[in-house]
Amino acid sequence: MAEAEQFSFKAEIQQLLNILVHSLYTEREIFLRELISNASDALNRIQFEQLTNANIVDPDAELLIELQPDMDAKTLTISDTGIGMTRDDLINNIGVIAHSGAKAFVEAVKAQQASNAPIGDVIGQFGVGFYSVFMVADRVRVVSRSANPEEGAWAWESDGGDNYTIEPAERENRGTDIIISLKEDAQEYLQTWKLKDIIRRHSDYIAFPIYVGEDKEPTNKQTAIWRRDPKEVTAEQYTDFYKMLTMDFDAPLHHIHMRADVPLQFYALLYIPASAERSVLSVRREPGLKLYARKVLIQEYNTELLPEYLSFVQGVVDSEDLPLSVSRESVQASRVMANLKKTITSKVLSELKRLAKNNFDTYRQVYGEFGRMIKQGLVVSPGEREDIEPLLYFPSTRSQNDDEWTALADYVERMVENQDDIYYVIAEDFAGAERSPHLDSFRQRGIEVLYFVDPIDSFMLMGLTEYKDHTLRNVDEADIDLSSVGAAQDEPETPEPVEQGDFESVRSRFADLLGERVSGVREGKNLVGSAARLVSEDKNSARNMFRINRLLDREFELPVKTLELNPRHPLIHNLSAMIASRSDNPLIDAVVEQVFETALLQDGIHPDPASMAQRLYMLMQAATGGAAQSAPTLAVEGLAGETEPVPVDNAPADDAAVEGGESEESDT
Ligand code: ADP
Repeated sequence: MAEAEQFSFKAEIQQLLNILVHSLYTEREIFLRELISNASDALNRIQFEQLTNANIVDPDAELLIELQPDMDAKTLTISDTGIGMTRDDLINNIGVIAHSGAKAFVEAVKAQQASNAPIGDVIGQFGVGFYSVFMVADRVRVVSRSANPEEGAWAWESDGGDNYTIEPAERENRGTDIIISLKEDAQEYLQTWKLKDIIRRHSDYIAFPIYVGEDKEPTNKQTAIWRRDPKEVTAEQYTDFYKMLTMDFDAPLHHIHMRADVPLQFYALLYIPASAERSVLSVRREPGLKLYARKVLIQEYNTELLPEYLSFVQGVVDSEDLPLSVSRESVQASRVMANLKKTITSKVLSELKRLAKNNFDTYRQVYGEFGRMIKQGLVVSPGEREDIEPLLYFPSTRSQNDDEWTALADYVERMVENQDDIYYVIAEDFAGAERSPHLDSFRQRGIEVLYFVDPIDSFMLMGLTEYKDHTLRNVDEADIDLSSVGAAQDEPETPEPVEQGDFESVRSRFADLLGERVSGVREGKNLVGSAARLVSEDKNSARNMFRINRLLDREFELPVKTLELNPRHPLIHNLSAMIASRSDNPLIDAVVEQVFETALLQDGIHPDPASMAQRLYMLMQAATGGAAQSAPTLAVEGLAGETEPVPVDNAPADDAAVEGGESEESDT
């Protein structure tokens, strides 16, 4: 008999073991769940191996898990007839920190220790895999025989210190024994009632039978939770299973349990996580669903069952129709898969719709976390557009705040007389949308406008040009005519427009100064309380994509738009008077520039708002009157970047532009 070889654990594992061996954690019974889960994985793997490989040890062995307490030896042995481990496996899998939860655990404990908080809380949140056995063990011996007939049996042993040993062992049959010498204070795990109780609570759904002691009947129900009747599964069990599957601490927002018989027979248990951020501790780092074919796990991460925009959904699909002989690669191509995808996708979408209808508070959270992905679906999966549309919600001119949303259907319901189109405004945020100059006449005529304030909305528009035959129109479109839509409500007392000729002198002043920065300057018919706005001649739904590019730090070009001026606005009145009396007053050009840049700002497309500061100081100085006696020189920087020195006048008392006169106030 060869000598036992000694190996040292990696520093990280030593640390982990040290914590587990010395921790006083009340819920240490979870070690059992972890070991049973490992056994179940090993059984899954032999089951899969057997599909294609007949040359294994004990091909006819029943697939099972067994718990055997030994009162005299004070040991608990957990055995399985799974795939087993070779000598190398024992070194590489058990000797190395494989479990991402364990790795994350060590990191969390380090953080916790740094803050001097008790570590007990941390343990409960993690499955630390195999090593959790050291919460209850003085010594652990693993005896395993691989399914590979070339390999013999090997034993791994450790007392949770810095080292472990490996030696050849005796084991006639395929599989693994975990022999746990229980700590003095952990003798309760020799009691079969205790073991059964833990199994029923934590491992009931394990698909293989778990036998305890001399029992002839398995302790667990063995029905995979997704194969059970939803009426028999408690909310807690659903949540437990989710946490087990994903290692997410937070309960999911929603679960979808499907069972179908025709045309396809399959089971699915899907979850919507509470957060879009995949936790660093999550064991499921990759997107994808766990795919079983007739109870056999054939793929850990299947991304073919849901479209990418729904890849936030987690869970399990178990099909009775997928041929068991499939290799992992050919799963993708199969026709059954295409049908499964169609069915599952439409179920997820209809469930989301139902959730929005019946439990909007929960849907609100789902949409808050995953709304951006759902919106992308409109563009990437146009075939599902009609199913996605009811899932969309936006704030609008009817919202008091950012959290008040309307569905498209409700918007359409509220349309006013002669309204055919759905109007939206694109802005940086809710407050920006609310103050948009584009909304003047919509508000005045009682027409609701949706707020598209998420950058992704600009992208979404490429897949959402209309909804139920109503065209979606950006309120900045140049040719929107509202004169017959809705009815003007309590007409505000607006000043008379400036004379036609006077307006022209203002207009041409703007046009000359702004040059190529605008595609034109004209009178705005839809302006009420605002002096100016930028409208777009281009109606292409891709024209707002620059916002996405800007967000992503990609190159982008600002669109060139048409500037509309409001001839009734007091500012335009003042400018017109100033141009008539002293057309060389430098304040005029400063105001023109500022009007233009303010319009950019209001659309959230000003490239560098801070650059306006100098000009604003100069204008404020002029507005505050005779303070500046010595006419200091200020640099006025236009958007084009040229800098010219401008002498600042002392504002004369009779100058309408800077006097707080009767016509200054504008009603908004
Ligand atoms: P995880 O199960 O998350 O990988 P563990 O620390 O629990 O992490 O287990 C480490 C590895 O040891 C497993 O991935 C598996 O390869 C191997 N292993 C553990 N228990 C068994 C077992 N009963 N049969 C076969 N292999 C096992």
